[in-house]
Amino acid sequence: MKEKKLNPATLCIKAGWDPKKGEPRQVPIYQTTTFKYETSEQMADLFDLKAAGYFYTRLQNPTNDFVAAKIAALEGGTSAMLTSSGQAASLFAVLNLCDAGDHFVSASTIYGGTFNLFAITLKKMGIECTFVDADASEEEICAAFRPNTKLLFGETLTNPAVNVLDIEKFARIAHSHGVPLIVDNTFPTPINCRPFEWGADIVTHATTKYMDGHSTSVGGAIVDSGNFDWSAHADKFPCMTEPDPSYHGLAYARSFGKNAFITKATVQLMRDLGSIASPFNAYLLNVGLESLQVRVERHCANAQKMAEYLSENKEVAWIKYPGLPGDKYHELAQKQFTDGRSSGVMCFGIKGGRERSIKFMDNLKLINIVTHVADAASCVLHPASHTHRQLTDEQLIAAGVQPDLIRFSVGLEDTDDLIADMEQAFAAIR
Ligand SMILES: *Cc1c(COP(=O)(O)O)cnc(C)c1O
Repeated sequence: MKEKKLNPATLCIKAGWDPKKGEPRQVPIYQTTTFKYETSEQMADLFDLKAAGYFYTRLQNPTNDFVAAKIAALEGGTSAMLTSSGQAASLFAVLNLCDAGDHFVSASTIYGGTFNLFAITLKKMGIECTFVDADASEEEICAAFRPNTKLLFGETLTNPAVNVLDIEKFARIAHSHGVPLIVDNTFPTPINCRPFEWGADIVTHATTKYMDGHSTSVGGAIVDSGNFDWSAHADKFPCMTEPDPSYHGLAYARSFGKNAFITKATVQLMRDLGSIASPFNAYLLNVGLESLQVRVERHCANAQKMAEYLSENKEVAWIKYPGLPGDKYHELAQKQFTDGRSSGVMCFGIKGGRERSIKFMDNLKLINIVTHVADAASCVLHPASHTHRQLTDEQLIAAGVQPDLIRFSVGLEDTDDLIADMEQAFAAIR
């Protein structure tokens, strides 16, 4: 009998850890650094990747793998790995394909931390990134490609500008240059967007955000669709098809097929750079994942109400939320996102500019000022003074961040209470 594909809400609970008779209902925490074997040879086979098994938590841990498998199932991918943060996931996704001297192309409207990683830190390591306007024509974006370009990167829903990425367009551009499309799907989560269905090859996540959902644990994930054919582009990706001297001549694409990307990132990058998630954090992440579907739906329903309230407020100069019919990305969100839902995040500016926006924020009582989004508790942030502080005005505009922009992440509180909080803050600055 062919197994019926389970729906996302069911996968949130059932995928990954599948307890047998008498086993714990909740994923066990393997809080251990190492794993015992009976003969020296058994261990040697693990080191040679001849046998699968756990030996040291820096490389792999069962708790982490159960949780990664759940995320892979939600995204519809072949394999996944957890990382210690979203930043580590972005770093590993790029380093898995780029060596010093290589180049890649990225949308400029991306998370501030990712922008910094790509523009400054990777550059120091000899890897160059060209930033493009994600809304530019295909010809303009193609012009950024070079013979040594190894990948195209974008965010499916950008933080903080909430621009929607045209994933099909980006996939076409990447594939016409023989490289994979990697997308950061943190904001929509697989509940609202499944990038592989639109042609993306690899997905990254800051699980820190909605997946965890309760501000408990920083973490990241990388998921592979298994769709990119490394062997067909062996000239560009010898790292996937040629023997790896650090593994006695093992070639990842040949030995691991659709799991080559994650296997290589685990045995090379995790081994050498060690950004492993702690098993305890993976356990907390799994608890968050169990309610991801219901939480994301409620975050989005609440955000829709708040966006409608703000769009009708005379004090608000402008608002961006893909759920609003007039929004630049409304149509694309309707097409690409499940039931047109984007996320619980929006941004807006207050009449009177930067100073008045900040004053408004300072007067909020219920809504927190924190460097966070996608939390059960509603929060606001002023990116120009906080997350994007290190960017120049030019880079701010390129990242889609106006100086008066307030990022508002709508939580799971009652929207009547959130509206009352905003009303009193507006009254205080009048
Ligand atoms: C937060 C975030 C990151 C970085 O994640 P950390 O877990 O904070 O390292 C990357 N991408 C997006 C879209 C994010 O919102």
